[in-house]
Amino acid sequence: MKDKRVPMEHDKKIGLVAHDNKKKDLVEWAKFNRDLLAHHRIYATGTTGQMLEEELGFDVVKLQSGPLGGDQQIGAKIADGEIDFLIFFWDPLEPMPHDPDVKALLRMAVVWNIPIACNRSSADFMISSPLMDSEYHRLLPDYDTYRSREISRGDQ
Ligand code: PGA
Repeated sequence: MKDKRVPMEHDKKIGLVAHDNKKKDLVEWAKFNRDLLAHHRIYATGTTGQMLEEELGFDVVKLQSGPLGGDQQIGAKIADGEIDFLIFFWDPLEPMPHDPDVKALLRMAVVWNIPIACNRSSADFMISSPLMDSEYHRLLPDYDTYRSREISRGDQ
């Protein structure tokens, strides 16, 4: 498979998600980085988005709450190219009713090779990277080869 290069816009479409025990962390992080985040478009799961909107004072696109499908909506937007950057503070110490959705979301971020930070230090490094303000092309495998693969249809 030959890689494709997908340009990332200067103003990014950033997904922000935090599990309940991590929401305080994410809100603090977002407030600290408010000016850096302000020119990007922010998408968030329902409760996270509500808290961010109140604390940051700018519009956030609020999807369903995570356990009600919000993680899957973020994953679908990554697959559709509508989200290209993800900060996802998931809780490593609590089992979640939507653990399969969490895993699926992490998988989508890897499939589409978008930057993803799952804890505060990674988010700090990512948001302060010089790449945030420079031209950047993310590499994607050419999935057309996968799409056009031979499938056995049995003996017809
Ligand atoms: P919430 O969802 O922001 O609606 O709480 C987050 C999650 O649990 O994935």
